[in-house]
Amino acid sequence: MNAPVVIVGTGLAGYNLAREFRKLDSETPLLLITADDGRSYSKPMLSTGFGKNKEADGLSMATPEAMAAQLNAQVRIHTRISGIDAGHKQLWIGEEAVPYRDLVLAWGAQTVQVPVEGDAQDAIFPINDLEDYARFRTAAAGKRRVLILGAGLIGCEFANDLIAGGFEVDMVAPCEQVMPTLLHPAAAAAVQAGLESLGARLHLGPVLTRLQRTADGLQAHLSDASVIACDVVVSAIGLRPRIDMAAAAGLQVNRGIEVDRHLKTSHANIYALGDCAEVEGLSLLYVMPLMNCARALAQTLAGNPTAVSYGAMPITVKTPVCPLVVSPVPRGYEGVWTVEGQGADIKALCRDAEGNLLGYALTGEAVREKLALNKELPALLA
Ligand SMILES: Cc1cc2nc3c(=O)[nH]c(=O)nc-3n(C[C@H](O)[C@H](O)[C@H](O)COP(=O)(O)OP(=O)(O)OC[C@H]3O[C@@H](n4cnc5c(N)ncnc54)[C@H](O)[C@@H]3O)c2cc1C
Repeated sequence: MNAPVVIVGTGLAGYNLAREFRKLDSETPLLLITADDGRSYSKPMLSTGFGKNKEADGLSMATPEAMAAQLNAQVRIHTRISGIDAGHKQLWIGEEAVPYRDLVLAWGAQTVQVPVEGDAQDAIFPINDLEDYARFRTAAAGKRRVLILGAGLIGCEFANDLIAGGFEVDMVAPCEQVMPTLLHPAAAAAVQAGLESLGARLHLGPVLTRLQRTADGLQAHLSDASVIACDVVVSAIGLRPRIDMAAAAGLQVNRGIEVDRHLKTSHANIYALGDCAEVEGLSLLYVMPLMNCARALAQTLAGNPTAVSYGAMPITVKTPVCPLVVSPVPRGYEGVWTVEGQGADIKALCRDAEGNLLGYALTGEAVREKLALNKELPALLA
């Protein structure tokens, strides 16, 4: 039998690539391998699940068996790749060698962990896939107080959602504002005020140093000597593209696995897309870029080499208490920010010396202007 196209990972990147590929090629053997349970789900739904009172099963859209049938593919679940032998076009699952015609790495990003002292480290839950979400829901059942570590996009979304789900929320993050790498301070202040209006308590500046069990739940000790009582902790302090195994196989890596516009790594017949990939220097851990990559790479794998392009890619943040759309200034551009509006309705625009729009942050009522502004934004990968 011909060696299959092998896709490692069944997240949005892996399954969407497989779908796009099957539109073009119904014959070539296709093998998907995943460390998780292989259910198809939309990861952005993880941070709206409590408000909608959805169990993990309710967020799952298809079983791996249904996906295998739909894609005319083999789907191997709970199977972890342990190495890549690029020279022999095979990968390793423990002792088992699996040959490939083309190999696609769609194995995502891993949650950043920080060391914390105390006897309650097992009460800290990262939520980066459906199984994490299920574990956290079980741990949070019957509890009232959640401490969120991190005030980035995902931390803020979980704060809004957990409050909508009936929890009390404290947030701890070593920064001066929410979403510090993404947001103009005026927009960040609007989001913070929105979360606080729901009852969230933000502790910006310190970090968690010790988590201790007490008779009444948990005590979180912060680096500024304050102590927060809580029942369970969500860790949302960041994601790091998985690069170690690629680097060990000799592939070029930077923040992510380096690929060109054909999603090709530094090695023949090995490609990458999704959260693990850095496309021409862009490491964008969002859905829209990976969908563009899936369409382009499917063409390439089907024999029609196609470069990916990115238009502007604004991000809609799921904090309904303060609607927010943000389009960060692309690297290499410099401009000046102007801010209009006040309170919850902020329009922060960044323009270059010629008046061209480079990026924006819109909150509240100003979000309505996004469609008009999007037309002015520069493409990220023209
Ligand atoms: C809570 C949350 C909310 C989000 N909301 C939004 C949003 O609103 N909008 C947006 O654009 N983006 C959002 N994102 C980001 C977006 O969901 C991700 O960019 C996207 O889902 C990444 O998909 P992926 O397939 O690259 O990675 P993943 O979904 O992480 O999939 C990785 C796959 O690789 C497998 N794998 C890993 N290692 C191995 C191995 N060694 N062997 C075999 N398999 C392996 C895993 O089991 C998994 O199947 C959100 C992210 C989170 C965490």
